[in-house]
Amino acid sequence: MSNTSMNVSVIGTGYVGLGTAALLAHLGHQVTGIDIDNQKIEQLRNGQVPIHEPGLDALLESVKGNLDWSTSYDSVARADVVFICVGTPPGKDGTPDLQYVASAAEKLAPHLNGHAQVIVNKSTVPIGTGDYVQRLLEDHAPGYSHERHRVVSNPEFLREGTALQDSLYPDRIVLGGHPDALQIMARLYAPLIEQTFTPPASAPRPETYTRPAVVNTTLQSAEMIKYAANAFLALKISFANEIAGLCERVGADIEEVATGIGMDTRIGRRFLNAGAGWGGSCFGKDTAGLISAGREHNYNMPILQAAIDVNTRQRQVIIDKLIRHMRSLKGKRVTVLGMAFKPDTDDLRNAPAHDLIARLYQLGATVTAHDPIAMPRARREWAHLTYREASSVQDALHRADAVIIATEWQEYRDLDWSALLPSMRGCVIIDARNIIRTPIDAHVEQIGRNAPAAVPV
Ligand code: NAD
Repeated sequence: MSNTSMNVSVIGTGYVGLGTAALLAHLGHQVTGIDIDNQKIEQLRNGQVPIHEPGLDALLESVKGNLDWSTSYDSVARADVVFICVGTPPGKDGTPDLQYVASAAEKLAPHLNGHAQVIVNKSTVPIGTGDYVQRLLEDHAPGYSHERHRVVSNPEFLREGTALQDSLYPDRIVLGGHPDALQIMARLYAPLIEQTFTPPASAPRPETYTRPAVVNTTLQSAEMIKYAANAFLALKISFANEIAGLCERVGADIEEVATGIGMDTRIGRRFLNAGAGWGGSCFGKDTAGLISAGREHNYNMPILQAAIDVNTRQRQVIIDKLIRHMRSLKGKRVTVLGMAFKPDTDDLRNAPAHDLIARLYQLGATVTAHDPIAMPRARREWAHLTYREASSVQDALHRADAVIIATEWQEYRDLDWSALLPSMRGCVIIDARNIIRTPIDAHVEQIGRNAPAAVPV
C-alpha cells in the first residue's frame, strides 16, 4: 500500500457504486464494496460483473488486488471514507424514497470509531439529506463525534454506457461539506484531480483532456448542483422535442436546427437530440424530485413540469406516427428495436421501449422486441409485458409490418436495410432516434424531420 492509499468502503454496488469502487481501487486505494444483495456480492467475488458497462469488467479485474466485496459493514471500522451509493427511487408523488440511504446510514453508524472518517453521499438525494444523514449517524453511532465524523455530498455525474470515461476524466468534481472533510476528499481524489494515475487500457485518457475542475461548496449547494444539472439536461432534450414537433409542421429539420443553435457556445449541441425522449433512472426521478422539493416549500416549478409533460407526450408521438401509416394496429406485427433506455447499457429503468411495447400490445399489435444486451434482463424485469423476444435483428424483422427504432445502438445504426427489408411483410419504419442517414426503400418516419431519409414506395 502506498502512503497516499486510503481505506474506503462503498455501500451499494449498482451502476454508481461499482464505478466508484473501480475508480478508487484504480487510484490506489483499498476498497470494500458492500451490498445487501447476496447474489451480487457472490457474483463479484467470482469475478462476474452484475451490470453491463463497457470496460468495467476489465478494470475491476485489473484492480482486484485492491478490492474486496462483502455483505457485512465491518470494513467501515477501518475506512477513512465511506461512500453511500444506494438507490433513491421516486416515491408515488415524486418525492425520492430515502429508505435505502437511511438504512445504509443506520447500518454503517455502529462501525464508526475514533479516527477521522468522512461519510460521503454519492446517491442523488434531496437537498437537506446530508444533514439528515448526519442526524442518523448521531443517533446510531455510539462513538459519534461531530468533529471526527463529517458528512460530505459528492454527487455523481457518470453516464451509463460511458461510466469509466466519465469517472476517470470528469468535467468537474463537486464536493460539499465542512472544509476539514473536503481536505480528506482532496487527498482521496488527488490522483484524479492531478491526473497522475496511469490510464487503464479499457479507458484511455482523451487527447484533449487535462484536469477536472474542483467545486468546493456547502452540502446544500452540492446536493442542488446534481439536481439542477440533471433537470437542465432533461429540459434540453424536451426543448429539442418540442421544437422538433413544430419543425415537422412547418417543414424545418430538427437535425439542422439543433446544429445551428448548438453552434452558439452559450447553448451547445449536446442533449439537443430529438427522439423518443429521455428515459433511465435519473432524469425522470430527479425532475420529479425537484418539483416535489418545490412543493414542500410552496414553490411552483412550471418549466420542469413542462419538460416532464413534453417527455411523456413524446412516447405517444411515436405511436401516433405508426397509426398514421397503419390505421389500425390490430393483428399487425410490430417490432421494437432497442429496449435499454440508451445504448451501451442493460439498464431498463424508465426506458421508452417499455411504454411502447405496452401501448402497442394494448392496441392489438403482436409485438417482437430485440436488444443487443438487455433482453435477459428484460425477461426478469419486464415479465409483465407481452412480446416475443427475437434472437437477432434478422429474426426481429422477419415478416414484420412495421419497426420502431427505440434505442440508438451502433448495431442498429449499421443495419443494411436493403438486405433486411425484403424479409419484412410491411415497410414502415419509425426511426424514433433519427439514426437512418441514407434513403431506403421504405416509409421512414423520423422525429422533427420531414423524413429526408425516406423514399416513398
Ligand atoms: P442501483 O439500483 O443500480 O444500485 C443500488 C445498489 O444499492 C443495489 O445493488 C442495492 O442492492 C444496494 N443497496 C440498497 N440498500 C442498501 C444498503 N442498505 N446497504 C448496501 N447496499 C444497499 O442504483 P444506481 O443506478 O447505482 O444509483 C445509485 C444512486 O446514484 C441513485 O441515487 C442515483 O440517482 C444516483 N446516480 C445514478 C446514476 C446512474 O447513471 N445510474 C448516475 C448518477 C447518479
